[in-house]
Amino acid sequence: MAHRMLGRLAYGSRYDRVPWGQRVYVRPGERLIREAQWRLLLRRAPVMSLAEYQGLRSLGEIEEFLSCMMCGESRQQPLFTPTGGNGWRYHVVRCPSCGFLYRNPNVRPERLGDLYATGYSNFLTGKYAANRQRRYDLTMRSFAPVFDEGKERRLLDFGSGVGLFLELAEQRGFDAYGVDLSPESVEQANQRLSRARTYFGAPEDVPEIAAGGFDVITLWSVLAHLPRPLEDFQRFRSLLAPGGVLLILTVNARSLLLKAYGAAWSGFTKNHLMFYSSETVRTLLGRTGFAGVAFAPHYGDTIEAGTTRLPADLVARLRRNVKLSDGGNMMRVLAFADEEAIGRWGGGPLRIHRLHA
Ligand SMILES: [Zn+2]
Repeated sequence: MAHRMLGRLAYGSRYDRVPWGQRVYVRPGERLIREAQWRLLLRRAPVMSLAEYQGLRSLGEIEEFLSCMMCGESRQQPLFTPTGGNGWRYHVVRCPSCGFLYRNPNVRPERLGDLYATGYSNFLTGKYAANRQRRYDLTMRSFAPVFDEGKERRLLDFGSGVGLFLELAEQRGFDAYGVDLSPESVEQANQRLSRARTYFGAPEDVPEIAAGGFDVITLWSVLAHLPRPLEDFQRFRSLLAPGGVLLILTVNARSLLLKAYGAAWSGFTKNHLMFYSSETVRTLLGRTGFAGVAFAPHYGDTIEAGTTRLPADLVARLRRNVKLSDGGNMMRVLAFADEEAIGRWGGGPLRIHRLHA
C-alpha cells in the first residue's frame, strides 16, 4: 500500500494500468534508480570464503556446495533467499570475480530427477501451451533467417517437455528429436507429434541422438536447470554438425526486474539452479568450444507480437531501456559452433561476436 502511494507520488497515475512486468521499464528515471540500487546492494553484501559460507547454511539431502562454475572462484557473496508455494526455499549467491549468480547449496546432478519425478508435465500444458508456442515463434523470428527453413536439417530439442517446440519444428520441416528427464512428458510429447520423436534420458543414452550431426540444438528454458553446464555444453558442441547453431532462451540475470524485485523476481523459480547474463553465457560458450554468439534483446512477448496495450511512446521507452540496461527479463542467445556457422549466418542482419576460449 505504502509502496503504491509512493509510486503514485513519484510517477503520477499514468502508469497505474501498466502491467508490473513493464512498469519498471517505462516509468521515467526508474532504470537509473534500480541500477543504482543494485550497485549499492552489491557493495554492501559481504564477500566470504566458501568455508565461512558453509558455516552459515545447512545442507539438504540432495544438495552440495559449489564454487563458481564459470571462473572457479570459491568466495561467495550471499544475495537472496527466494521462497515460494509449498514451502520451497533456496539461497542465491553471486561470484565476486565474474558476477555469476547461482544457487548455493545447489542440487547434486544425480538427484536432479527428484525435481521432475511427478507433476511437472501438468505445469507445461493447458493455457500455458499457446503462450509458450508464441514465445518460441517470436524467438526464432528474432534470429531470422536461421530458423526459417527446416528441410534437410537435423534438430535436437534438449529438455523437450511435452513437445510444444518440436511440434513447431516439425511444421517447419526440421528432422526433429527431443530428450527429457520426465517420462510422462516424453509420453505426452510422442502422442502430440507426427514425425518428430522424443526420448527419456540423456543424449548419450539414445543411439539416434548420440550419433550427433545436428544442425540445430535448442534449449528452451533449460539452461537455468543444468547442474553441470560445462559438461553439458561440451556434449552439445560435439553433437553439432559443422556449421551448427545452438539456441538458448533463459531468464536474464541482468533483468531490470531482478534489480527491482530482488528475491521476489520471477526468474527465481523452484527448479532453477543458475542464472546467466550476456557476460557469463559468453564465458560458458567460449570455454566449451563455440566460436561466436549473437543476442536478441527481449522486449516481452506482447510487445513483440504487437498485442500490447501500451501507447507507442511507452513502447519506445521500454525498448530503449531494455537495450540500454541489457535488462530484458529473458535472454535470447544464438551460439555458433565454428567459423563455418559464422560464415553461413553472419552476412545478414545478425550481429555475431567472436568468442575466444
Ligand atoms: Zn565466477
